[in-house]
Amino acid sequence: MIGILKGLATTFSTFTRRPVTIQYPTEKHELPERQRSFPVLTWDFDHDEPFCTGCNICVRNCPVDCMTAVMHDNPKYAEGTSERRKIAEKFWIDYARCMRCNICIEVCPFEAIAMDNTWAGHEHSTYDRRDLHKDIEDLLAASKRGELANPFRPLDSIEANAALAEGGEAPAPGFAAARPEARAAQDERIAQGLGAAIQEREPEVRQEAAGAAAALSAEDEEAAALTPRKLRARRMKAEREARAEREAGEVSAEAIAALRRYGSELYTEITGEPVPAPGSPPPAPAAGATPAAAPAGDAGDPNSPRKVRARRMKAERAAREHIARGEETPADVLQALNDTESALYKEITGNDPAPAGAAAPAVAPAAPAAGGQGDPNSPRKLRARRMKAERTAREHLARGEAVPAELAASIAELGGAVPGAGEGGA
Ligand code: SF4
Ligand code: SF4
Repeated sequence: MIGILKGLATTFSTFTRRPVTIQYPTEKHELPERQRSFPVLTWDFDHDEPFCTGCNICVRNCPVDCMTAVMHDNPKYAEGTSERRKIAEKFWIDYARCMRCNICIEVCPFEAIAMDNTWAGHEHSTYDRRDLHKDIEDLLAASKRGELANPFRPLDSIEANAALAEGGEAPAPGFAAARPEARAAQDERIAQGLGAAIQEREPEVRQEAAGAAAALSAEDEEAAALTPRKLRARRMKAEREARAEREAGEVSAEAIAALRRYGSELYTEITGEPVPAPGSPPPAPAAGATPAAAPAGDAGDPNSPRKVRARRMKAERAAREHIARGEETPADVLQALNDTESALYKEITGNDPAPAGAAAPAVAPAAPAAGGQGDPNSPRKLRARRMKAERTAREHLARGEAVPAELAASIAELGGAVPGAGEGGA
């Protein structure tokens, strides 16, 4: 009997106890701050763009390879409304594969990704698992709607716990930008007629000038985009080339254009016009009289001073190589020396070069003459033979041998002196 009464008492006490279950989904428990559902991207309301730069650090660290990020140049950087040069253009996470390990959140250097600690972050049931492949808009939606009221950040948690342990108050979270307050501040800015993003600095000049510079050539555009160091290097090169051409007689239009493009003072010196800013469009053709200096040596002219000089240098180099080997200078090289009016032509042939443009009148004549290129008894060749014989004689003496009689005779015949003969006779 007593046992029956005890059982009934237990039944009645259980019957009257408050239930521990709730009517999900109409009722939901409050989730703890550190709760993890799935990773989502956070929205920077101050700059009206994601925090994510698409740096791929999280992608590389994801143990199940369920993330993909694509980075691109941030257009807001040029507008001056963001300090991020790069920004995520595309982002995917496959929630069907994500194991909610939190690694992507821990490795992100920009706090651009957080575990969604709301019920909405859990409720992703679908009929097709392909619907669990979330793109960047899906991933940003919660943050953009201001639903991530308290995204968990390990740093905030550490600071809050440290303050509470010391008996103080938990500090305000450092990561405020993705929170509803930031969204409210953005709404206020928009209501005041300001931009959705904070204007941090002036838009880039290059962006403003883009329309006006439509007439720029590709080279001018490239010059406008050069760093000061590279611009200086190009300017110095252009000046070097222009000076070389000026020494040769005339500066080509090509060289003048390069001086203008790279903002060289030499441009003023040559044309008398002020130097425009580097990368400025070229002046109108009829604007000035000075650029008329250019046509004679323009890029398409094979007889421009620059090209003639290059041919002369090449011919001289070839001629010197033949001379150094003790060979005769070939006729085509002599012709090139003549055509380019090289001083070396006279040195070799003894004749002045023919006037420029004349068809090789002076190439052949000097060669057959005595003492010329083909003469085996030219002073140069005699000297070379004498020096060789003297060298051989010295080698004999160095080995302690006597100089052979025929070698001594050859040296004497060539006008030389047998090494050591003078000392031995003294
Ligand atoms: S939580 Fe883990 S598994 Fe999921 S996306 Fe991040 S790193 Fe990958
Ligand atoms: S979420 Fe963070 S780590 Fe991942 S790509 Fe974006 S900025 Fe990089």
